[in-house]
Order: sequence, then C-alpha cells, then structure tokens
Amino acid sequence: MSVTDYSAKNSILTCKRLQGATDARQRPESHTSVCEQADNKADVVPCDRLPKSPPFVIPIFIAHQGCPHQCLFCNQRSITGASEGMVTAQAVQETIRTQLAWPRRYPTAPVQVAFYGGSFTGLDLERQRELLGAVQPFLATGQVREIRLSTRPDYVTPEIALFLREHGVGIVELGAQSLDDRVLAASGRGHTAAQVKAAVACLKEEGLQVGLQLMLGLPGDNTVTALASGRQAADLEPDMVRLYPCLVISGSPLAELYHQGQYQPLSLNRAVAMAGRLWLIFKAHNIPVVRMGLQPSASLEKTVLAGPYHPAFGELVLSRIFFNQVRAKLSSRRLHQPHRLTLAKADESIYRGRGNANVKRLGALGLLEGVETVFSASQARQTVQVAAIAS
Ligand code: SF4
Repeated sequence: MSVTDYSAKNSILTCKRLQGATDARQRPESHTSVCEQADNKADVVPCDRLPKSPPFVIPIFIAHQGCPHQCLFCNQRSITGASEGMVTAQAVQETIRTQLAWPRRYPTAPVQVAFYGGSFTGLDLERQRELLGAVQPFLATGQVREIRLSTRPDYVTPEIALFLREHGVGIVELGAQSLDDRVLAASGRGHTAAQVKAAVACLKEEGLQVGLQLMLGLPGDNTVTALASGRQAADLEPDMVRLYPCLVISGSPLAELYHQGQYQPLSLNRAVAMAGRLWLIFKAHNIPVVRMGLQPSASLEKTVLAGPYHPAFGELVLSRIFFNQVRAKLSSRRLHQPHRLTLAKADESIYRGRGNANVKRLGALGLLEGVETVFSASQARQTVQVAAIAS
C-alpha cells in the first residue's frame, strides 16, 4: 500500500491510496470526487516514455480490508471500523459500463480499469478473482486495454505476478517509499528494500509494468538516503515513479512523534529541492515521474497537521529545476553579448514560476540583462537553450 488520503467520502471509499493516472476530465463532479488522484496536468512530466495521450482510467475503489501493518505516516487506525462497503463484481461492471459511455477527450486513448483503495494482492485470492473476473468481459471485447492496481512489495510473489498477468493486469504500482532498510524500519513499513527489488523482479518477469512510489522525509530519511533510494529505484528500471513528501497526518503515529518533538517534517523548500534532485535522477534514466506531491483536496488539507504540503507541489519542483538550469546556462554565457534564451512554449508558466518568481529572481541576479527570451512551439519540452545573438 502506499500514500493515503483517509477521508471516507462514501460507503465504497474508506481509504484512498494515491495511485494511478486518472482521467477525471469531463466527468460529473460526483465521480471526480471519488477519484481525485492523478490528473495528468502540471504534475505529469514530459518524457519519451510517456504515451502520446493519457489513458482513460476507470477507478474502482475497493473497501479497506484492515491493514495488518502500521506505517508511521498512516492514520488507518482512525478509520478502522469505518464502513466497509464491499464492491461487488456487479458494481464493478456497472461502473465500467457507465464510464465507457461517457464522452472522452481522447477517444482513442487506451482504457484502464484501476483498483484503488488497498493492497490488492493482500486481499483473499477469491476476492481478487471476483474483482479481476468482473473486468474480463471488457478485456475480451477490447473495450478495456488492461487493469492496473497497487500493492505492497511484500505482497508480491512469482505466483501472484503470474496470477495478475493471467487476469489482465498490466500495471502494478508498488508502495516502496524508500530503499533504505533503516528508513523503512524507522517508518514501520514492515518490509525491506530487498523485498521491493524482489517484487519488481517478479512483476517484470511476467512482463508487467511497474510503478514505484517513494516518500521523501520519512523518519530516518535525509538527503543522502533519499538520493541513494532514488538511484537504487532508478536502477530497478520501473516504468514510472511517483514522489510524495511525507506529511504529518492527523491520527497517525507520526503525529504523536511530531507532537512529542521526535519527528520534524521537511520544510517545503527542502522537500522541493529533494524532489527536484530525484526527478533529475529519474530523468537521466528516462523514467517518467508521473506525479510529485499529493493530489490536493479539501479533505487532505483538513488532516495535514504539518509537513511540506502544497497544492501544486509538482509545479514548484519543476519550476525550481527550470530556475537552476536557466541560472546555470545564463551564468556561463559571455557577458556583454546579447543572448537568446529559448524554452518550449508549453513550459512557459513553469519556467516563470508562481507569480513570475523565477523571472524576478533571475532578473535580481542580473542574469536577464541583454537576454531575449523566446517561447517556441518547436523547442523540446524541459529543455533550455541559450545562444549568442550575432550583433
Ligand atoms: S499502514 Fe502502511 S501498508 Fe497499511 S494502509 Fe497504511 S500505508 Fe498502507
């Protein structure tokens, strides 16, 4: 399981894991409120390995089954005993039929059914069969391309990976959180880095795509361990990564440690810097970081006691990366000669930063003197070009 937003909004959803790219656009509000996760907007980072159009994801929330673990950052105890409306196979099929009938922005985009809300492979095997079986008719007709789900690394074995593949699962997201055993132990995760690696190997062996979720600023984590985790995660060659800063959620054991002064969350500035360094590691390996920071929601904001929460965390990270890249390039140019700074048109707002902050900072440093800035539709995303202009 992974990062969670534990606000129950209806009888189906009792523990929302932040998983999956969900095309919530064009959906009625009542449905977007059920799955507020990835939205493929600013936090989705351009990468050669990303599909041209985002998948159309049909989210299915499975009832929280009572996790036997107690990760420090998780407040599952506060929801224990909450309504556990069991999603039936019939309900799964009705949801799929309903959502397939909705108009889509990208009609040819592949359709995925995503099971959120728990460690799927921790469910009883019969229950897994029931849920996956409900999707089979849609897979058979080609209306649904594949199934995606999330789980814990220690709930994956070669047999489970085979079972998933045989039932049409194409993507499994693992809540790895860290690849440092001391950090994992200090965070009460209940699994090791070796189990993360073994799980990735099992899933890849079966040809499944693998997503890894990492948290920054867990107990015992620091810049060194976070970067080492990022490098190890990149070496595992996942198909996608999500980065979440650790937040202090009301009702979690971490909240108690925080109140006792035994845990200090990352500042927003540090979390942004750390996420930026990890993003660059994954970028160097051509691994898409499909989300940075939790999907903002009113319910999340109510439960966050402390920590680097920002509704546009991913945008802050990308903006910081741009600032650093542009500053480095402009600092090394020959002074007293006009230059042209070229950026992708689609990157303009991220380059500028919130409130034009990046431009103001570059200007204050004197780096924009004699610089003509061009936003070009032909410039590749996430690239910065600085060239001298012939005088
Ligand atoms: S305790 Fe850990 S594994 Fe269990 S639900 Fe919470 S985050 Fe997931």
